[in-house]
Amino acid sequence: MNSFYCDVHTHVTHERFRDDQKQVIARAIDLGLGAIVTNGLNPASNREILELSASIPQIKPALGIYPTDAINQILPEDYPYRIDHFDVDAEIAFIRQCAAQKKIIAVGECGLDGYLVGPETFPLQEKVFEALIGIAIEHDLPVIVHSRKREVRCAEILASLGAKKVDFHCFGGKSKHAQKWAEEHGWYFSIPANARVSESFKKMLSSLPPDFILTETDAPYMGPVRGERNEPANVIGTVAYLAELRGWHEEDAKKTVWSNYLKLFGEFNNSKST
Ligand SMILES: [Zn+2]
Repeated sequence: MNSFYCDVHTHVTHERFRDDQKQVIARAIDLGLGAIVTNGLNPASNREILELSASIPQIKPALGIYPTDAINQILPEDYPYRIDHFDVDAEIAFIRQCAAQKKIIAVGECGLDGYLVGPETFPLQEKVFEALIGIAIEHDLPVIVHSRKREVRCAEILASLGAKKVDFHCFGGKSKHAQKWAEEHGWYFSIPANARVSESFKKMLSSLPPDFILTETDAPYMGPVRGERNEPANVIGTVAYLAELRGWHEEDAKKTVWSNYLKLFGEFNNSKST
């Protein structure tokens, strides 16, 4: 089997890629990435991702609603980041329709955030998260989960709804929880490109059951060099680090992660038109 690298959580439609998006993607493909799972956050990025994936087979579209976008109607006026107002129920319906038409490889990014916003927003965040998990389960798709400071609650909701195909992205919770959930639920954890400078990601790379490890970038964020723009090709460094930590040949680490990717996401052919 030919193996490739994968970035299962990235945002190449982000404005920081506006000037060189095609070059960034071409570089990743040239270096051996077989899948660049590009995650949507809101109506604008969801539609851009569908369009981009129609012309580049390696760009795999995941559509979602970011936790703070999910509460755009109740965000305080002085919320420091720009979030467009939109009809969340209409976007959920759009994602459901795309799932039914087999246009997407996964549902995400979605989940819960307790870092950027407070508990008064949790009920609405959970309602949207549950609706998106429901779509994933109904259409047998993986769900890509943002769980910042709400890791245990995310797990409770996923388990109660019976979600089996799950990837926790940039998991910031306790590594013993990650270990337990991988073993008990068969959930996956994608490790970002800054693992070499993060004790907790290093620990996850060395201790998680190898069958549940994936690689991601969350580009343009979470780069290996603090402050520098991240890009999908940087997953290669994480695979090398995984090999180093486990005493494996790099090729074997690459094969393991690629076969994990195929187990969770399956073979997926992009729609030719949107
Ligand atoms: Zn993200």
